[in-house]
Amino acid sequence: MKSSLDYTDDRDTLIINDSKIRQTLESCKDIDPKEIEEILQEALLLKGISIEQTAKLLMIEDEHLLESVYETARKIKDEIYGQRLVLFAPLYISNLCANECLYCAFRATNKHLKRKYLTQDEIAEEVAALIDQGQKRLLVVAGESYPQEGLNYVLNSIKTVYSVNRGSGKNIRRVNVNLAPLEVDEFKRLKDAQIGTYQLFQEVYHYDTYKKMHVGGRKRNYKYRLHAIDRAFQAGIDDVGIGILFGLYDYRYEIIALRQHIAHLEKYFGMGPHTISVPRLEPADESAVASNPPSPVSDRDFKKLIAVLRISVPYTGLILSTRENPKMRGEALSLGISQISAGSRTNPGGYRVDSKDEKGTADQFSLGDTRPLDEVVYDVVKLGYIPSFCTSCYRSGRTGLDFMELAKPGEIRKFCHPNALLTFTEYLVDYASEQTKKAGLQLVKEKMAQIDSERIHKKFQQIIDGERDIYV
Ligand code: SAM
Ligand code: SF4
Repeated sequence: MKSSLDYTDDRDTLIINDSKIRQTLESCKDIDPKEIEEILQEALLLKGISIEQTAKLLMIEDEHLLESVYETARKIKDEIYGQRLVLFAPLYISNLCANECLYCAFRATNKHLKRKYLTQDEIAEEVAALIDQGQKRLLVVAGESYPQEGLNYVLNSIKTVYSVNRGSGKNIRRVNVNLAPLEVDEFKRLKDAQIGTYQLFQEVYHYDTYKKMHVGGRKRNYKYRLHAIDRAFQAGIDDVGIGILFGLYDYRYEIIALRQHIAHLEKYFGMGPHTISVPRLEPADESAVASNPPSPVSDRDFKKLIAVLRISVPYTGLILSTRENPKMRGEALSLGISQISAGSRTNPGGYRVDSKDEKGTADQFSLGDTRPLDEVVYDVVKLGYIPSFCTSCYRSGRTGLDFMELAKPGEIRKFCHPNALLTFTEYLVDYASEQTKKAGLQLVKEKMAQIDSERIHKKFQQIIDGERDIYV
């Protein structure tokens, strides 16, 4: 079995081809509006577009043409995802880290940061606080260095999350993880812990920039990280998320590289990632890089890249985090984002009411949106979206290729739309403020009126009558 030491870290990789990316971008510099319109027409067939076509869209600067790109992205988003939007919260269990990522407050040499890892009891308290807000899906996050138990610490933490029960269906039903790369046998143990998605961002595909930004620790090895998703697939994890940390290198290069990464996964494993995350660099404690990104992505370019991704890989979920402010979130939702984090804290222990005094000293980065879940939910409803706390696909075994087979012909809407309404209703009845409940129930009623399945109406009534965790 390969360990990190077996990965000679040279820049040659079969997955990411630097000169091909440059050639592709170079050859797409001249924009022909007619050709762009043809690409956009083809995109409406919902089959995705080629890497070259993706590059062409990324090179557009003309506002008028960009409007057409947005329009197409909105149509695709609406056709495949409808009005639902999945909500989740990150759970930071530890900020211990042995790596030196120059943009992150958790990096080993940041002596200013208060180091903390949560005990299993503290994790249970955090989870209880999250459940009491109405969360059903968590993303467990940690730095790359675990307390003495090593990986068992993470596995026990996942077990703890699933074990917390606040009565009548009030529990966490899906635990995704964002953790450092593992070996195949370790990934198998992670799978056995019943994780939903394994998430890992390459951060920056451009090799030299990667080396400049990751100056120490195991993460310095570019290839070991790049091949982590292969190892996860080999271990039988069929639900993975990838991502780029925008601001480190030219976004156009990065997206073409990401498409090459996906092409590799599709070639060798028959499927790509379930999700793509699009974090932008945020200021972080003691990090000059985070405050002054080397290749900043403007709001306009950020909107463009979200729209292009939506068009390029229509069936892959797009995740936006708390890092973005409410205005950008609103725009990004219409262009293609299908999941957002809400009510987030990025310091271990940040959800418990008594941890306020610790805040600000243990955060990974500053948040653009610090509103509580209920406020985000209200906002999302006002924007016309249905907040979804659904976890049914993964619990019904609709993951990996099974999911893709359903998703591609648009079938998944038959499950996702009603499940969004059912789980949102649960949220409204159990947790929402009066204001949110009023706005939310009105939206749910409108949407339910458009559903002519007796079975789904029956399930809806079951929830109103107090039954919980009902899904199709
Ligand atoms: N330590 C693991 C790793 O690096 O893969 C997993 C957890 S790490 C806390 C999760 C992600 O946070 C990183 O992959 C990186 O993209 C993101 N991150 C780090 N510093 C950031 C910053 N200043 N602004 C925005 N995102 C940041
Ligand atoms: Fe550690 Fe991850 Fe932060 Fe890098 S990004 S310093 S590996 S927590």
